[in-house]
Amino acid sequence: MKKVLMVLIISPGLLLTAARAQDKKGAAVAPTPTTDTAKKKPAGITDKIKSSRKYDGLFTLYQDTVTGTVQLYVKKNQLGKEYIYQSFSINGPNQLFLNQSMHRQTLVFKIEKAFDKLEFSRVNTRFWYDPNNPVSKTATVDKPEAVFLVEKTVSEDADGYLISADGLFISEKLDPVKPLFPPGIPPTAIFNLGNLNPAKSRYTALRSFPSNSDIVVDLAYDNPAPYNNGTTDITDARYVRVRMQHSLIEMPKNDFQPRRDDPRVGYFSQMVTDQTSISPVPYKDIIHRWYLKKKDPNAALSEPVEPIIYWIENTTPVEYRQAIVDAGLKWNEAFEKAGFKNAVQMKIMPDDADWDPADIRYNVIRWVSSAQPTYGAIGPSFVNPKTGQIIGADITIEWFSGSATPILDELFKSAATTGTLQFAGMEPQHEAFCSLANELKSQLLTGMTVLDATNASPAELGEMHKQFLTYLVMHEMGHTLGLNHNMKASQMLSPAEINNTELTHQIGLIGSVMDYPAINIAADRSKQGDYYTTKAGPYDLWAIEYGYTPFNEGEEAAGLKKIIARSTDPKLAFGNDGDDMRAPGKAMDPHVNINELTSDAIGYAEERFKIVNQLMGKLVQKYTKDGQSYAELRTRYGTLLGQRFSMASAISRYVGGIYIDRSFPEQKSTNKPYTPVPLATQKRAIDMMNKYIFAPDAFDADAQVFPYLQPQRRGFTQSNSGDDFKATENILYLQTSSTLSHLLHGATLQRITNSRLYGNQYSVASMMGDLQKGIFNADITTNVNVYRQDLQTYYVRQLVSIIDPKNQQFEDVSKAAALYTLKKIKTQLTTAVSTNDETKAHRANLVFLIQNAIEPK
Ligand SMILES: [Zn+2]
Repeated sequence: MKKVLMVLIISPGLLLTAARAQDKKGAAVAPTPTTDTAKKKPAGITDKIKSSRKYDGLFTLYQDTVTGTVQLYVKKNQLGKEYIYQSFSINGPNQLFLNQSMHRQTLVFKIEKAFDKLEFSRVNTRFWYDPNNPVSKTATVDKPEAVFLVEKTVSEDADGYLISADGLFISEKLDPVKPLFPPGIPPTAIFNLGNLNPAKSRYTALRSFPSNSDIVVDLAYDNPAPYNNGTTDITDARYVRVRMQHSLIEMPKNDFQPRRDDPRVGYFSQMVTDQTSISPVPYKDIIHRWYLKKKDPNAALSEPVEPIIYWIENTTPVEYRQAIVDAGLKWNEAFEKAGFKNAVQMKIMPDDADWDPADIRYNVIRWVSSAQPTYGAIGPSFVNPKTGQIIGADITIEWFSGSATPILDELFKSAATTGTLQFAGMEPQHEAFCSLANELKSQLLTGMTVLDATNASPAELGEMHKQFLTYLVMHEMGHTLGLNHNMKASQMLSPAEINNTELTHQIGLIGSVMDYPAINIAADRSKQGDYYTTKAGPYDLWAIEYGYTPFNEGEEAAGLKKIIARSTDPKLAFGNDGDDMRAPGKAMDPHVNINELTSDAIGYAEERFKIVNQLMGKLVQKYTKDGQSYAELRTRYGTLLGQRFSMASAISRYVGGIYIDRSFPEQKSTNKPYTPVPLATQKRAIDMMNKYIFAPDAFDADAQVFPYLQPQRRGFTQSNSGDDFKATENILYLQTSSTLSHLLHGATLQRITNSRLYGNQYSVASMMGDLQKGIFNADITTNVNVYRQDLQTYYVRQLVSIIDPKNQQFEDVSKAAALYTLKKIKTQLTTAVSTNDETKAHRANLVFLIQNAIEPK
């Protein structure tokens, strides 16, 4: 068969050159006047624009002052050039990720003329080829064009062409707006906007500047027969208007140098493959970073020509503004490592500001209180896809009013559907969906409950809250500086060091603010140190040094190599979302996880289990308050249950875990790239789960709270199944979703067996046996309580499912171990002592399930 070398083309002159400073977003830039009389009026289009207002800028727009329709004027010298498109949602259903300041679609496009039409097409930025290599001549082969719009010209003159703009902007051509419905999702599961109704849609604002044109539109959607009425933010599910901004941006022209990505440090990046390279790793991936240039190139420490300016929106509560300013400025310590002084500046948007926070030239930290918060806080930025230069950023902090939030009350009932929403033609944007504030808020509420229970002063509560806000702002700002998550950072300090403020004020509590750590709570209240880290950690300083240190020409490769060589320092440990283990069966390294703390996460979790059990005894007294219902008590209880869930999840990942070391050979790490977790650690994790999650008395402390867990009635909102707390359902969910669903996941079992070949001493059969001990031994000679009945039945059912010959998710080693364990359980049940009918019925059911599975009729 003929071999075809597949090379995709991008214009060589445009790649990896670039860019203009963030002056576009700089505060001081004034809007250019929208009328430009110096130029000669285009003769041929006069007739078509006579009742229009002109918006002159990167693209010239004409809006009819009577009908509101818009025409776009494309200059002849704009044909064939590349531009950046960025869309933002300004107002729309949160559950469809159309809420304020969502940075949505980023793409590169170009316009070309074909006969009497203009063609708009998207440019593929995923490949690079060396223009000096003859293979580059085949660059156009097998690269289908992505033409998203063809529009007939209305008229033309010597300089350009006029077209109707509706096809571009009152449409879903550039941004898909509506999510795809994943197959199998019933129409009742996701709120559906229906179809775009152009007749009811309109232009809301036009802004045109020399380097960018913003077109704000209200897109009207009609759905005459909605199956799903949406959440309370949806006024009428049949009629929804979505406010969107289309921004057309000039390719930055400056001496910005793209910086190569490295697997040992965590930047958002553009993946680019060199199609003319014979290297086994032909990657030219580039990181997202701002364009910083020293005012004084020779100074070791210099101010940048253009600093990165963040504006705090004037909707932010006055009492939080200073804390946000202080938090943002703390990033300057990191930029000093890269040679920049005052790189980050924080300003407060005046109440009488004449600019709109949606103006892309301003980076704004926004503050909202929406009806249906889905994210807590987001820190997206948008970049030039060809160079990685960050062009703008916004942060939105979602203010949860009150502490009795539905999110925490429904901790175990959250709908999974929205997390799977996909948009046609859009890359998944991990940075856009940072759930930190949700996780952090749950941790904060735990801390507040501890302080309440120990009668802490309002000042101490205030300090905890300030640390929380500082951490949140620093984290989201970190995203806008290009950093992705570092879920390995919370393991930096030992349990003995974690409350030593002399140390934590110097280097931080954790290696990076880009983690989702557990709040630090000392079991001995007199030893309490910091609750959250409030400074850039060693990893953050190092990551910014990697991403932003300027180098003289020809010195960058060596300079970066020297910086990255330090990655083996344990304080610089890094692992991002791709390696984190929060989802069952996912990833490998238990050090890369959320909601845990210290280098001994298992020991720290045990301490937290004890704290939670102690708090149970104080909940009813602390949250029984005259003049209010028991809704707050129910929320606090849900928060503590969530703590157990987080801790159990974190511990369970040590079983079958593999420590990852991503250093390169020349760094001479003492670790291999993959090292199985030692047997004793895996056993310790199992013991901890057996004691605090599976044991018959694991939830004894909760019983005193159950009679009080009453939500507040509103209208007729009581659940159809009654609004009492469903303890068995919730606790079984906790026991299984946090731990067993991971331990018995096909991927986990396969990894346990595979790693037996290179050092893992724990087999699937041994693990299943140890689980059997924890789940059955303690009450084999007594009656079995309702939690344990559910747990034992779940365990048996899972093992039965594994041995099912039709189930292809499990290897034979796992199937054999499951069968062996089922037989042992059956034998064990013959020695059981049951004195009540409930236990007799339960055990008879288990024997029935096992018997049917082993010897099906
Ligand atoms: Zn985040």
